[in-house]
Amino acid sequence: MNAEILTIGDELLIGQTIDTNSAWIGKNLALFGIQISRKTAVSDSKIEIVTAITEAFKRVDFLLVTGGLGPTKDDITKKTLAGFYGCGFRRDESVAAHLENIFARRGRQLLEINKQQADVPEICEVLCNEVGTAPGMWFDQKGKVLVSMPGVPNEMVHIMENRVFPRIKDRFKTPEILHCTAVTVGIPESLLSKQLEDFEKTLPPHIKLAYLPALNTVKLRLSGQSDDAALLKAEMTGYFDNLCEVCGEAIFVREDISPVKYIARQLIHNKIKISLAESCTGGFIANQLVTESGISKVFNGSIISYANEIKHRELGVPNEIFSTVGAVSEKCARYMCEAALKKFNADIAISTTGIAGPGGATDEKPVGLIYIGIATAKGSRVKKYHLFGTREQFMQRAANCAMMLVKDTLLQEFGVH
Ligand code: ATP
Repeated sequence: MNAEILTIGDELLIGQTIDTNSAWIGKNLALFGIQISRKTAVSDSKIEIVTAITEAFKRVDFLLVTGGLGPTKDDITKKTLAGFYGCGFRRDESVAAHLENIFARRGRQLLEINKQQADVPEICEVLCNEVGTAPGMWFDQKGKVLVSMPGVPNEMVHIMENRVFPRIKDRFKTPEILHCTAVTVGIPESLLSKQLEDFEKTLPPHIKLAYLPALNTVKLRLSGQSDDAALLKAEMTGYFDNLCEVCGEAIFVREDISPVKYIARQLIHNKIKISLAESCTGGFIANQLVTESGISKVFNGSIISYANEIKHRELGVPNEIFSTVGAVSEKCARYMCEAALKKFNADIAISTTGIAGPGGATDEKPVGLIYIGIATAKGSRVKKYHLFGTREQFMQRAANCAMMLVKDTLLQEFGVH
């Protein structure tokens, strides 16, 4: 089954806001077997909105709309929808009570303009929005369903997960869809596809393999579709096991999560403490680690030793290193990770020192060169990489490389699989 998305808002068209709502909706509706066949963005203009809805309903029976539901003048979606369906408004008592509650809790006066958020087109079914003030709306007329939701991403997600998903199962006949994703790090897509050539030939037509490359990671996603849920689950488990077996060590994690998240979880689960001494990545890896809740149990802190003076003062890197081999060197990385291990009383310490570019390169030390060190009680080692891309891409690639080292060390020295 196909559906379309309509996003409303001038800010989306002038590049002030990136349309993340469509990406989320597309990704999540795919889990219901609903493919987004088109997405359209229009300005806060009645004529544009009506035209877009009319056109979309010529193609599909299901249209998801976000944006323009706020209390301000430029938010015209609700009025436009009432006009489109030729109906009047009614005050929804549950939304009115919810608004009163929210404003009382926040100690703010409920103005008439706010009260009007409880006025909805008569023919719609209200989709309660507990995390915001604008309710979602479900219109089901002449076999066509339109869902209108606020533009604020977390409100849209809340309404989709709690109100729209349950209704989709009731309203539409959708096949069972299953996805299984594994993430590889450091292996090019072309090599993986060569490795998986024979495996791909074994796949039945209703199970497909997709390669999703990002910064030195490639996600391998198996997607299957069937009316028989139990059979599909068994088939997918079998094919996914085969895929992971064929790829062997290339598989970093058999789940759709980032390498850093996976490592953070492993560290927490196995109570293995980590610390960092980051130069060229400037705290990027630490920042990624702390996005995982519970990391405080295994992460005491790290040093951002961007300047040589800090590398010397805080980590004890001898000044002679800078004047001989330089800060971007194996020796420096080794001093850094060994010092971070002791300083933070960690089980594993990582260090980074390199040239993120675009400036700062020499003939011997090009942009993208990075040394990543790893230290444990058993000793330390340093690996040299040549990464590429913008500064941001360099940092992400470096973080992924560091996680490969940690994963290997967890296996070799801590027996963590
Ligand atoms: P509310 O009543 O809660 O203000 P709304 O429906 O009026 O919701 P908008 O005014 O259109 O929403 O947008 C609210 C916020 O959500 C803005 O910051 C806007 O940039 C953001 N936003 C709108 N559409 C999208 C989108 N498609 N993707 C990501 N963010 C969006």
